[in-house]
Amino acid sequence: MAEKSFNAFEMAQAQFDQIADLLDLENGTRKFLRTPMREFSFTIPVHMDNGEVEVFQGFRIQHNDSRGPSKGGIRFHPQETIDTVRALSMWMSWKCAVVEIPLGGSKGGVICDPHNLSAREQEQICRGWVRAMVRNVGPAADVPAPDVMTNAQHMLWMLDEYESIQGSKNPGFITGKPVGMGGSLGRTEATGYGVIFTLREALKELGLRPDNTLASVQGFGNVAIYAIQLYTQMGGKVICVSCWDQKEQVSYAYRKADGIDLDELKGITDRFGGIDKTKAASLGYDVLPGDEWIEQDVDVLIPAALENQVNGETIKKASNRVKIIAEGANGPTTPEADEIIKDRGIFVIPDFLANAGGVTCSYFEQVQSNMNYFWEKDEVLGKLDIKMTAAFQAVLEMSKKKKLYMRDAAYVIAINRVAQASKDRGWV
Ligand code: GLU
Repeated sequence: MAEKSFNAFEMAQAQFDQIADLLDLENGTRKFLRTPMREFSFTIPVHMDNGEVEVFQGFRIQHNDSRGPSKGGIRFHPQETIDTVRALSMWMSWKCAVVEIPLGGSKGGVICDPHNLSAREQEQICRGWVRAMVRNVGPAADVPAPDVMTNAQHMLWMLDEYESIQGSKNPGFITGKPVGMGGSLGRTEATGYGVIFTLREALKELGLRPDNTLASVQGFGNVAIYAIQLYTQMGGKVICVSCWDQKEQVSYAYRKADGIDLDELKGITDRFGGIDKTKAASLGYDVLPGDEWIEQDVDVLIPAALENQVNGETIKKASNRVKIIAEGANGPTTPEADEIIKDRGIFVIPDFLANAGGVTCSYFEQVQSNMNYFWEKDEVLGKLDIKMTAAFQAVLEMSKKKKLYMRDAAYVIAINRVAQASKDRGWV
């Protein structure tokens, strides 16, 4: 589905340049912010179950830490590239700034496909990643978290390796830990719920009631699942969800006109969360190949998979009914698609605002870890709602005041904050 020439870092820099022009940023600040501060690329040798040694490529990119320790997840993906990680690290700086949490931006990755790795092999990759990075990460420097195809178990292996090397307990090293092992209640739900907190505000702004709206979701991972759960609880109806088919290496959309049943679909997934096509068809779902999720006659589109999914080609297939795009994924929409979205007057909740719930809850997790006192789930989610709603309203206000597209308004706020912190420190 991805266009061959797509480069996420070029896209992140193009988005940045456009706002730097708008803000008339000084040349030095502009040069400093459009490039990550530190980059690490390293090998991770692993003794595989078959006795052979496999060498994996790992990355950590720290884009900016002027506002606090850098923060960002680690992705496991067979098509990972250093440029994708660079882009994602930059987006993390803007994300932490737009929700006003005292953290910078970073991202990590390993080129690997967990589908083809045993638990032991994945554990070795996690431990190897930490050994390679141990001198350059830490609670006061750079704090990893889960992302695409990594979860609480991976975080715990990484924490254990870090603590073994340091010789002390250090739960602030990483977030997204299992609950009971330093993790926060609500962290698993946080990103998907955060998307829906901002969607709720956008619906209010457009004078729409959630129970009068239909949505189509791309993805069936952690973000998508909790977004669907909360949106459905609010009375919205998801009529289509797409999911990657590991065997065929393509996506399929699963559509039910009277609304998908989240628990039913979760009940027919494999151990990696992939939906079983045959079982879905027997439960009455239309199983449709390719980009069908974006073609549905719905009010809300929620891309919650990977980057470059709403692009110049796919957006043309979107129905005229679409009023809101709530970006659960990082970088799902290309600048080319943005132009078409603007022309059509679709309201966008940009990725680094919409999906900031994950890192916001990670911040709460660190706070709780530091106090060694853990809040109830309602308290966590209540604080998350307050943060997400305030950030959304600030971006909306900026967009109205300066007559800016929502993505540009979010960028103006975020870039200004990071530029100011870098200036105040005397860096630029
Ligand atoms: N990986 C998530 C993101 O892209 C969360 C990052 C974090 O919690 O540090 O926002």
